Amino acid sequence: MFEDLLSLLFPESCYACSGSLARGEKYICTGCSVKLPYTDFHEHGATELNPLQRRFWGKVPVRFAFSYLYFMPKGRVQRLLHQLKYKGAKELGEHLGQRYGSLLSDHQYNQQFDLIVPVPLHKNKLRRRGYNQAEHFAIGLSQSMEVPYNGKAILRNTHTSTQTRKSRLDRWQNVEQVFEVARPELVLGKHVLLVDDVLTTGATLEACARALLAAGASEVSIATIAAA
Ligand SMILES: [Zn+2]
Repeated sequence: MFEDLLSLLFPESCYACSGSLARGEKYICTGCSVKLPYTDFHEHGATELNPLQRRFWGKVPVRFAFSYLYFMPKGRVQRLLHQLKYKGAKELGEHLGQRYGSLLSDHQYNQQFDLIVPVPLHKNKLRRRGYNQAEHFAIGLSQSMEVPYNGKAILRNTHTSTQTRKSRLDRWQNVEQVFEVARPELVLGKHVLLVDDVLTTGATLEACARALLAAGASEVSIATIAAA
């Protein structure tokens, strides 16, 4: 009863449209849930029908590349990511991870992965924000897929201060050197699901995937909340 009273006084709002949540709704209202731009990439597995998969061809061997949603500027997905990244909505990351994880489990993908690893945040950003949004997505995936996660498996080195003055190629090579696996024995012989909040160019995920494979991971797959 106290909770009912609380929600009457302070109705929670939808992270995607800011409208009030109805009783029983959590984080995202039913209207938004229905209208979110789901990719369904997982239905195509690792085939050429999966457009995200194709983006890694010839770059780095990726077993599966999945994204829950299409990134669309100024839409619901951008608002969700903004809440997760800048408004402290860690629970939203976990919620999206749980939803996507149960969808992937429905297609037996949970049996594929041995370990879930988020792309690390730069140390300064982590200090400012207080949390790594990709890690909270990883936690949700881990809970619903029952696959362990490790938020500290990959380290991000800090020598990237001159990045803006470099050419595109230099920048790419620079990203390449930034990641290293903290303890290779954690990933050795494992199929690692590498996760991030959003995929834009894919360069960061590519560099992390390389680092994991170099450290002895048997396979790497990728999952993000959204893909541009
Ligand atoms: Zn909504």
